[in-house]
Amino acid sequence: MKRTREQEWSGPRRLPTVDRDGDEYFVDVCLRQFRTVTPPPRHVEFIDFKPGRGRRMLEDYLILECFWCGQTIVVSRRSSEKDVQCMQCGARLSLR
Ligand SMILES: [Zn+2]
Repeated sequence: MKRTREQEWSGPRRLPTVDRDGDEYFVDVCLRQFRTVTPPPRHVEFIDFKPGRGRRMLEDYLILECFWCGQTIVVSRRSSEKDVQCMQCGARLSLR
């Protein structure tokens, strides 16, 4: 029986993060939102992928899915890299 990618990767899933003006945000594709990575007691900010700030932030990034493990990978559109490494399984994905 063919296994799905989710079954092949048994480790914990990690959300990708992006740095924006010195603040770090989780990129949660399932919930379609950015979420600040802030230590307590600072409050967590939720920014939906909707017209406005969330859309403007989203337009700066390419959101890819690793073809080996399914990990979400977020790359800045300003990046000049030719490829990107999956932070979960280490596979290299071409951006060209
Ligand atoms: Zn991967």
